[in-house]
Amino acid sequence: MVVRAGREFLAIPGPTTIPDEVLRAMHRPATDIYSPAMVGMTMKLQADISGLFGSSGQTYIYIANGHGAWEAAISNVLSRGDKVLVLESGLFAAGWGRAAAAMGCDVETLPGTWQRAVRPAEVEARLRADPDHTIKAIMVVQVDTAAGVMNDIEAIGAAIRASGHPALFMVDAVASLGCMKFDMDNWRVDLAMSAAQKGLMGPPGLGFVVANDRAKAAHQTADLKTPYWEWTARDGDQHYQKYAGTPPIHLLWALREALDMIYAEGLDAVFKRHRLLAGAVHAAATVWAEGNGIGFNVPNPAERSLTVTNLVLSDGLSAGDLLAYCDKNCGVVLGVGIGALSGKAFRIAHMGHVNAPMVLGTLSVIEMALDAMQIPHGTGGVQAAVKYLAGNVPA
Ligand SMILES: *Cc1c(COP(=O)(O)O)cnc(C)c1O
Repeated sequence: MVVRAGREFLAIPGPTTIPDEVLRAMHRPATDIYSPAMVGMTMKLQADISGLFGSSGQTYIYIANGHGAWEAAISNVLSRGDKVLVLESGLFAAGWGRAAAAMGCDVETLPGTWQRAVRPAEVEARLRADPDHTIKAIMVVQVDTAAGVMNDIEAIGAAIRASGHPALFMVDAVASLGCMKFDMDNWRVDLAMSAAQKGLMGPPGLGFVVANDRAKAAHQTADLKTPYWEWTARDGDQHYQKYAGTPPIHLLWALREALDMIYAEGLDAVFKRHRLLAGAVHAAATVWAEGNGIGFNVPNPAERSLTVTNLVLSDGLSAGDLLAYCDKNCGVVLGVGIGALSGKAFRIAHMGHVNAPMVLGTLSVIEMALDAMQIPHGTGGVQAAVKYLAGNVPA
C-alpha cells in the first residue's frame, strides 16, 4: 500500500473519471417523466450530441453501452444478407462486424493490423472492385482503444466519395467523441455511434447513434429492425417513446451536466487539451522507448490515438506486474492490454476529465515502476513530458 492512500487515479479507457459535478447532478429524486420539461431536455441532449458529432442529423439515445449502440446501428439500417465491409485496425471494428455477422449480415474484412491505421487507398481500391455495389455498409472506428490506433475518418470518407460507391459509411466514435474533432456532415459519414462513459465523462449506461438522411432512408427498408432499437417509434412525440420505455432520467441529468462542462470549456479548447496531454504521454514514452524494454504499439506518431496510448513491453516482461505495481503501491489504475496484446501491453487513457497533474502524475508513477522493476528504459521521460507541455502552454 506504501504510497497509495489518497485519490485514486483511474487511467483506464472507460469508464473514465466522472467529474464531481456529474456525480452530483444525479443525486436527486426521480421526477415525472411525462412532463414537457423532460421532453425538452431530451431534445436538447439530442441536439447537443449531434453537435459533438458535427451532424445536422438525428441522434438517438439508448439505455445501453457501446455494444448496444452497435446493435442499434446495425439493426436500423441493414437487412439479412447485406454485405458489410469492416476496416480492420485493431479489435473494435472487428467486434462491430462480428455483431453484424451474428445478426445475419455477410461480413467481409479489409485486413489491417493492430499497429497501423486503415489505408484510405485500400478502401477506395476495394470499393472500385465492387461495380455492382454489393457492399451495403462500411464499418470503421475513429480510435481503436485496444491498439491505440487513430484512423483518419475524413480521408477514408474522401476515398469512399472518390470511388463513387454508395455504401453507407458507419463510424464508431466511442473512444473519441468529445475528445477529438468529428465532422460527420463534411466527412461523408452516414451513421456514427458512441457511448457516455469515455470522453463524455459519464457513468456507463447510455449509447448514442446519429443518422443522416441516407441512413434514415436505409432505415425504411432495413429488415433487422426490432422494437427496442428501431427509430420510427422513437421519433414519436412522447418522452416514453424516445426511450422505448422509461427514460433513464438520472443518466440524462449526468449527461446534461457533462455536455454543459464540455460546451462551457469550448469544443476547440477540449480538443486542444486532449492533443496537448496526448503529446505529453507520447513525449515521455518516446524517451522510455530508448531503453528497448518498452515501446509504442503504433510506430507512426501520426497514427497514435490522442485519447489512449498503448505501450508494449519486450518479451519476458510482464505488463501485469507493472500494472499491479502502479495500482497496489501508488493508486494509479492503468488499462490492461486486451486481445492480441493481452499480458504484453498496457494502456494509458488520457480522455475525458483529465488535466496536466493527472497525466503527469500517472506518467511519473509509470516511470517509478520502470525504475523499481528495473525494466530497461530511457531516463527522463517525465521530464520530456513536462518540457513538452511547458513549450506548448505559454506563460
Ligand atoms: C469501449 C469501446 C467500445 C465498446 O463500448 P462498451 O460501452 O464497452 O460496450 C466500442 N468501440 C470502441 C472504440 C471502444 O473504445
